[in-house]
Amino acid sequence: MSITSSENVFDLYIDGKAYRPEAATYIDVISPATGKVVARVQNASSVDLDVAVAAARRAFKAGEWRNMKPADRSKVLYRIAQQIASNAPELAALEVAASGGTIKRILGLDIPAVVDLFMTLAEEVKTYQFVEYISPRPFPEQMHSQIIKEPIGVCGLITAWNFPILLACMKLAPALACGNTVVIKPASNTPTSTIRLIELIGEVVPAGVVNVINGPGAELGDAMTLHKDIDKISFTGSTEIGKRVQRNAAETLKRVTLELGGKGAAIVMPDADIERAAYGALFGVYFNSGQACESATRLIVHESIYEPLLQRLKEISETVVVGDPMDPATAMGPMSSESHFRKVMSFIESASRDGARIVSGGDQMSVPNCEGGFFVRPTIIADVDNGMNVAQQEIFGPVLSVIKFSTTEEAMQIANDTIYGLSAGIWTSNVVEAQALARRLNSGSVWINDWHMMRTDVPFGGYKQSGYGREFSKYSFESYLETKAITTSFETNVANKALYKIVHSL
Ligand code: NAP
Repeated sequence: MSITSSENVFDLYIDGKAYRPEAATYIDVISPATGKVVARVQNASSVDLDVAVAAARRAFKAGEWRNMKPADRSKVLYRIAQQIASNAPELAALEVAASGGTIKRILGLDIPAVVDLFMTLAEEVKTYQFVEYISPRPFPEQMHSQIIKEPIGVCGLITAWNFPILLACMKLAPALACGNTVVIKPASNTPTSTIRLIELIGEVVPAGVVNVINGPGAELGDAMTLHKDIDKISFTGSTEIGKRVQRNAAETLKRVTLELGGKGAAIVMPDADIERAAYGALFGVYFNSGQACESATRLIVHESIYEPLLQRLKEISETVVVGDPMDPATAMGPMSSESHFRKVMSFIESASRDGARIVSGGDQMSVPNCEGGFFVRPTIIADVDNGMNVAQQEIFGPVLSVIKFSTTEEAMQIANDTIYGLSAGIWTSNVVEAQALARRLNSGSVWINDWHMMRTDVPFGGYKQSGYGREFSKYSFESYLETKAITTSFETNVANKALYKIVHSL
């Protein structure tokens, strides 16, 4: 059953069923490829948020989900993977229409990745040490301890628009694996695929375990992060809003996970294979039209290969197919919205003003059948100084900033000279030296001779102002669990109780 009506009006999903707010106001979802409205979604108020949180709290307290044996929860996670896989075309079409991400990427990568993620965590949950027994201590007396990992409770999940299904699942999979209940708020310009996803998951978990609301982050996001009955916030979005989330969450000392911005630095060593580095660097920055937090936006190139590499980057860049995101041949779609498009263009203009050289692209593109769309031509900017705006700020578009270096020390210094620490990488023929260099990069992920090398069994997350906490793999469980220590005394003779003597005359 789909909750979409023939007019493409989407309800919310709370407590196991479609939910319509009393006020019945809507937010239009606009296709960034055409500028046209593709759906209307119910707009939730703080009252509707309360309804969703109350449903999640009831489901948590009822205990059916959190007390389910991990082996049984594992089976449910497998069923969620199945639900997603068997509804892939519908989920992908919703996501393309709202986000402008390409059908090639969403069907070819995102959906298989989230199916794999649920299956990976379905396996992990079976063997994860939710209970650990610590050896009894003979001194000062016999005592026995268990360390118990318990779900935190009601988790508020807030996601960005660039990979709506993927970002949602990166939070939902570990939150559910650990026995929590959730209320998710997707980005208000791309809510449709998340609503459908939650409806599909809702069919295989108890009512109230998953709930979705929709509305502007400035109001609903604040209401979530300040909410007294939400125990944890997991947020994916900009560093600026991430700081606000952390401040708000401090009011009730909510547990917080932050997946924030990035300014990935890829170092091209003098011994790198130019052809591999050129294709790889552009894959690193043009994936999802550059709208990826872990993008390789700064290419730090040794002076000895600088000009030949630039030449190859330009040639390859001009072959990248920009077009209608629903066309399976399209590699790059539009910017996600008009305002974002304007922001990306203003960064490119600032580079020219700052004295950098536009080697390729730099302008708007018109795309057949997508006349109202917000397309930026793939852009390479050379002679960038790391102090320039384009090197320091997150552009979030198909824009590569190329920086020259002379010594390895200088390359390391430039790569780490950023407030962010999400991704970094090295292109080289010397993978032994690369291991040592990787240790010196202040970043949560380091990729050698490739980019975007994410695995569902390997943790992903940031250093510095790219946030904290990890997603993917069993390491993500830690962010969705509390740790309890239960210690039992087996000493029955009061006179033998060593510490009692501090208080009693024994
Ligand atoms: P954003 O403006 O920070 O928005 C992200 C989410 O936060 C949206 O759902 C937004 O709602 C909501 N929000 C807005 N104001 C809020 C508030 N006061 N309190 C709570 N939530 C609030 O980010 P964006 O521009 O949409 O997304 C791009 C950013 O996400 C980039 O910086 C990118 O690097 C980052 N990102 C990071 C990762 C990672 O894993 N590290 C992954 C993907 C993206 P509305 O949509 O209604 O405004």
